[in-house]
Amino acid sequence: MAERERFDVVVVGAGSAGCAVAARLSEDPTTRVLLLEAGPEDKNPWIHLPIGYYRTIFDERTARTYRTEPEEGVAGRSILWPRGRVLGGCSSINGLAWVRGQAEDYDHWRQRGCEGWSFADVLPVFKRLESYADGDPQWRGRDGPLAVSGPRHRMELLDAFVAAANQAGIPTNPDYNGARQEGVGYFQLSIRNGFRCSAAVAYLRPARKRPNLEGDGSRAWSTGGAGRSGRSRRARSCSPRGPSPRPSSSCSPGSARRRIWPSTGSPSATTCPGWAATCRTITKPGSSIAAPGRSP
Ligand SMILES: Cc1cc2nc3c(=O)[nH]c(=O)nc-3n(C[C@H](O)[C@H](O)[C@H](O)COP(=O)(O)OP(=O)(O)OC[C@H]3O[C@@H](n4cnc5c(N)ncnc54)[C@H](O)[C@@H]3O)c2cc1C
Repeated sequence: MAERERFDVVVVGAGSAGCAVAARLSEDPTTRVLLLEAGPEDKNPWIHLPIGYYRTIFDERTARTYRTEPEEGVAGRSILWPRGRVLGGCSSINGLAWVRGQAEDYDHWRQRGCEGWSFADVLPVFKRLESYADGDPQWRGRDGPLAVSGPRHRMELLDAFVAAANQAGIPTNPDYNGARQEGVGYFQLSIRNGFRCSAAVAYLRPARKRPNLEGDGSRAWSTGGAGRSGRSRRARSCSPRGPSPRPSSSCSPGSARRRIWPSTGSPSATTCPGWAATCRTITKPGSSIAAPGRSP
């Protein structure tokens, strides 16, 4: 086998997490980072228009269009369960709703043993990554890479819904990503100046010029799996962990292992049973990784 190029870190999957990880790691010019993405560049204009996700989530050019098994609880229907397969991953096709989650959930995880995941632990990270003009700076970030916007327009019907909730005893909460989540109000969205602010836009675009951040093509970005390969020199390789309802035929555990770690032997990997093939973390430095081909 031809000698592989050497990188300090290989990041597999330029999705929400992968874009942020690759961009943050490559801030250090001495760290050489390879970012591999199975999907194409995020050039489809529907990706960038907030309403465009109705186009992209059904489109095999931008998404893996998984379906759930038919389930009794939904009248025996099989539900579409898309995942992004494009630069930016799901952050390029998602519903843009910016919701940190319930502080108590993080604290519960910490109580269950997840060190570093209490809400007090993750709050500085949330503040660092976002740029939101409104809200209390005790809770909200002002100048992070990911833009968050409040509603640009109010709608009579939605105001009536809020008023009805108030009448039912649910208070208006002007910032559900602030001190408390409880209440009713308008969604905040990952939008900048009317356009989607995906992880690729927020993190990768500013990092594009860095010579130490490389990708599948001749420049740093995805070509839909042209087959570049690399070996992680000293650090851990990272792979996408987004749960999916079932592995696709192109991404079953066996085929993913072959595609990602061809012929040079298996790195040690932790797999989460019941999750898709993408749900694994490579733990052995020096593991060998190649970009997969385009999924069917
Ligand atoms: C339709 C939809 C709507 C959503 N709406 C919202 C919302 O409104 N608000 C919200 O907070 N969340 C929403 N989500 C969820 C959120 O977008 C995801 O949880 C999040 O983006 C997952 O990030 P990730 O980094 O784990 O994975 P992803 O963003 O899915 O990234 C994984 C990337 O890895 C690539 N990849 C996979 N396997 C390989 C491989 N073997 N080699 C190379 N590359 C590979 C994939 O192509 C993909 O680009 C939505 C998701 C979807 C699909």
